[in-house]
Amino acid sequence: MTIIFPPRGVCDFCSAPAEYIEEADDSQVDIVGLQHGQPVDTGLTGISSGDFGRDWASCSECHQLIAAERRESLVARAARGAIADKAEVAAAIANQSVSMQTLKQAIRRMHATFWSARTGGYHAVPR
Ligand SMILES: [Zn+2]
Repeated sequence: MTIIFPPRGVCDFCSAPAEYIEEADDSQVDIVGLQHGQPVDTGLTGISSGDFGRDWASCSECHQLIAAERRESLVARAARGAIADKAEVAAAIANQSVSMQTLKQAIRRMHATFWSARTGGYHAVPR
């Protein structure tokens, strides 16, 4: 199970419909993904195209949490989103092969990629 970033059009944090683009410069940041609920170094740094864009998509709810820098609330929302959106994550939590604490820690480390790269700028998703 590898979860990196969901396809464009959905929030990169919780998979709800994307409303905003959070501007980021990840050219100096290692990209971290999730595998079996654990953070993995993808070996990628500063990829600027495809699903690993420099910018992260956010839904209106996550956008508010980001603007307020409510990092733990964002982690909790992302964990709920991963469970709701990814059957393999839901199964891993249900059969206790991955604890909620482990999942959240992995998400925290993945979000660290974003917080390190975030410029603070944002714009609405182009329609
Ligand atoms: Zn979201």
